[in-house]
Parts: sequence; structure tokens; C-alpha cells
Amino acid sequence: MLREQGITLHVKREDLLHPHISGNKYRKLRYNLEEAKDKRHNTLLTFGGAYSNHIAAVAAAGKEYGFRTIGIIRGEELSGKVTENPTLRFAEKQGMQFRFISRQDFRGKNSPEITARLQAEFGSFFLLPEGGTNALAVKGCEEILGPDDAAFDYICCPVGTGGTIAGLINSAKDCQQVLGFPALNGDFLTNDIRKFAKKDNWALQNGFHFGGYAKVNTELVHFINDFKQKTGIPLDPVYTGKMIYGILKLIKDGYFKNGSKILAIHTGGLQGIPGMNTVLKKKGLPLIR
Ligand SMILES: *Cc1c(COP(=O)(O)O)cnc(C)c1O
Repeated sequence: MLREQGITLHVKREDLLHPHISGNKYRKLRYNLEEAKDKRHNTLLTFGGAYSNHIAAVAAAGKEYGFRTIGIIRGEELSGKVTENPTLRFAEKQGMQFRFISRQDFRGKNSPEITARLQAEFGSFFLLPEGGTNALAVKGCEEILGPDDAAFDYICCPVGTGGTIAGLINSAKDCQQVLGFPALNGDFLTNDIRKFAKKDNWALQNGFHFGGYAKVNTELVHFINDFKQKTGIPLDPVYTGKMIYGILKLIKDGYFKNGSKILAIHTGGLQGIPGMNTVLKKKGLPLIR
């Protein structure tokens, strides 16, 4: 299919940047860690769900760069289940301290009341938003593309909170088109991306979220396993698997002009596979290999 249309697809392996601070999370943390050091903070506090790549990355970064880390985790029911959860178990081993809160409190996590409560409990801290997106994170993601990437016509990436794609948009050439593949069903993403993106050379492909955030089906699992077998490249089920699935579908449907050169950013997230497999196993679905 690729050969017939003269299309090339390259994968930029950001997942290989660091063994534990995965892909785009490494980029997003870099300038935030510098800022936290400059401001003399010794504690990082952040938010996330049970299998969050961001939680794992912050825990590992804290250990490596000498910060105490606190993870505010969505779901009180998880408090007794840390050892069963590969992501939380890893984060705890890196030294992260957890506070498990209800889904309702989690929704209000950015309110002044909750911030005050957390400060009373943990003292002063450098706050990283859920998913890690802020202006410094976008600045870090602007460094994903280098001079060698200028020859591609399309830059593709998965989208969660939109920080990564905003960085790519800012550093892409005007003649390049940036395509985002949302991992969730969310109309708010376009506005979130516009907050940080300085150009208009981008679009979202909304048809590949497989029903929503962290939702997977047998077809996606088979696709991920197949792709790894054929190319040697492992994909995660929440972000990169859905993006690559989407790119190949668009190629098949003739979306890209003949001769297009496509670059897909592998943003990492592989730490989430064991956690997803515990969920798949409970449902009796095939596992990611
Ligand atoms: C967090 C994450 C994303 C989403 O990045 P945003 O900047 O939030 O859009 C994409 N891929 C992987 C593997 C991630 O862990």
C-alpha cells in the first residue's frame, strides 16, 4: 500500500530517549525541572490516573534529579491496590508518595480550596498539571523536531492534553502539516491547543479514539501485536497504537497525496502496557505482547 502510492512513513523513536522518563514526558518535564530548581523547590506535586505515563515519568524524574514527589491519584479505591498496579508500584519504588482522592475532588483539583488543602498537608511544592502541559512543557516539545525532519510533508502525533502537538506546530516548517490523533473524544482539544500553538498548519483526526480515553478493543490489540511483529516497533494501546492505526487507515483511504513523506512521533507510553494487560485479562480479551 505504501509502495504503490510512493508514500513513506518514518517513526521518530522518542520512546527511546530515556529508560523511565518516557518520550514526550521527558520533553515536557525538562524545562519544568529547571524552573523548579531555579525557584529552590525540593518537592514536585502532580495529578494522574491509575495507569498514568505522566505519574510514572514524574516519579522517575524526581528520583533522578533529587526532588521529593507527590502523586495525587484519581480514585480512593486504589489506595489498597498499589502492589497490583504496575504503574503505581513503579512510581512508589521511585519514591513517590501518594494521596488518593475521590473522583469528585479530582475534578476540582485546580480549585484554590484543593490547592490550599494540599499545601497545608505537604508544604510548598512545584505544581505540575495533570498530563504535564504548560508553557514550559510546550517549549520542551518544540525540541522534538530537528533539522533532519524538515523534509517531511506531514508530522503526526497522538494528542492527550495537546501540549505535545502545540510544540510540534510551533517548530514545524510552514510547508509542513501537523496531524494530531486524539486519544479521547473531546471537542475542547482544539481550543486547548490554540492556547499554546502559534500557527495554523495543523488539524485533528478525530476518528481514531476507539470509544474514548484508554478504551481498546480486540482489533486494536491485534493491530499493535501485528505491527510489532512486522516492524519491531512496540506501540502503546492508549496513544501511539491509535495514532499509527489512524495513519495507516488514512493512507489506505487515499487521504495523503502520492509521494507524501510522513513522520510519526512515537511519544512513548510503553510502561502502560502491563497495566492495560491486567485490564484486558480480567475482560478475557487478547493481551498485548
Ligand atoms: C501523555 C502522552 C501523550 C499526550 O501528550 P499531550 O501533550 O498531553 O497531548 C501522547 N503519547 C503518550 C505516550 C503520552 O504518554
